[in-house]
Amino acid sequence: MATTLPERGTDWAALDTAMSAMTAGDIDWRRGRAPLYTFYATESVETIGRQAYMKYMSENALGGRRAFFGLRRMEEEVLSIGLDLFNAPDGADGTMTTGGTESILLAVKGCRDWWRARHGTRRPLNIVAPVSAHPAFEKAGDLMDIAVRRVPLAADFRADVAAVGGAIDDGTMMIVGSAPCFPHGVIDPIDALGALALEREVWLHVDACVGGYVAPFVRMLGRDVPAFDLGVPGVRSLSADLHKFGFCPKPASTVFYRDRADAERQAFDSDVWPNGRFTTRTLVGTRPAGGVSAAWAVLHHLGREGYVEIARRLMAMMDAYADGIEAIDGLHLWVRPQLTIINYGAREVDIFAVAERMRERGWLAGLTRDPRGMHAMMSLQHEPVRDEFLADLAACVGLVRKAAGPASALDATY
Ligand SMILES: *Cc1c(COP(=O)(O)O)cnc(C)c1O
Repeated sequence: MATTLPERGTDWAALDTAMSAMTAGDIDWRRGRAPLYTFYATESVETIGRQAYMKYMSENALGGRRAFFGLRRMEEEVLSIGLDLFNAPDGADGTMTTGGTESILLAVKGCRDWWRARHGTRRPLNIVAPVSAHPAFEKAGDLMDIAVRRVPLAADFRADVAAVGGAIDDGTMMIVGSAPCFPHGVIDPIDALGALALEREVWLHVDACVGGYVAPFVRMLGRDVPAFDLGVPGVRSLSADLHKFGFCPKPASTVFYRDRADAERQAFDSDVWPNGRFTTRTLVGTRPAGGVSAAWAVLHHLGREGYVEIARRLMAMMDAYADGIEAIDGLHLWVRPQLTIINYGAREVDIFAVAERMRERGWLAGLTRDPRGMHAMMSLQHEPVRDEFLADLAACVGLVRKAAGPASALDATY
């Protein structure tokens, strides 16, 4: 029977119990059992994020300019930190949004309006993106009637710059590079894509949603992180999610533009209704002020030192997982993790069948279809469970090898 609104209300104690019961069978992400969706740094980061969020849970970031001046200031400081981290030149600007998808939608909208101002409105538009780019570009294309042309990757799972160039035609307004891409966790050659964008006079968007707030700190550790940000000529906009490896509470993302004029193109401006002119830079109207205050608090709680220390622990963890997986007979990495995403396949055994056995042991497996791999986006909840995970993984590979059944019927799904 469908649930209806209860006749009488219920107090917190009973609600709390009921909710805990409802989620008791969920994947135990705090014990590292989920390979995506959630991020964890430290206890104090989580506590401070929660407290700062709750402090302004009832305010509305939509009112930042007319009512909530302090929250507006926090938002400006968050953006200023991002502009500095991403080597933005003078004259750059940005916006806080509710997530990577909104950041990407806005960049595509800004790009479309730039394109139309330049070329008129008649030509059908397209975006050229490597197959590894996030489906948020299809959402944007769907909403704005822009085709997304997907092009194959180079052998190293990075964008094939020649293939991107080959797909550009006179309707191409944008090309995309990821830093890193979600499926394989590697950073596309942004400098070469930037040169291509300048040569062909198209807009390059760098999708650093997943890696943006960890890559600069990994570079500070002295590891090899290629240039990917607004410091690269030809990069016109960049998206980076605070609610991923910025370790801020959801929802919080950022989108940045080399030129303030482009940032203004993403804005919406209407003056049609009785309440007068309505201008917003974001797709959403009402926005959680808690997302702003929590991001401000977490960034200031950690500081550069805190983020570098987390990056150090993350990369040590990634190295240990990578080595542990390579040590299991039959498994191999598809590519060495560059940041915090790992993807590995199998020889002789079906990796999706291994994933099924792992699921039986409580480990949700991320999968990729091409190449067939097990996939994980990892943060510090995965640090303490490494030995347990690797032991189960080795055992499951052994079980699948012994059973040697038909290929798994699983398919990759996000
Ligand atoms: C997560 C992600 C997005 C989308 O962000 P949401 O916050 O889920 O909307 C876009 N691109 C990449 C590479 C991502 O990992």
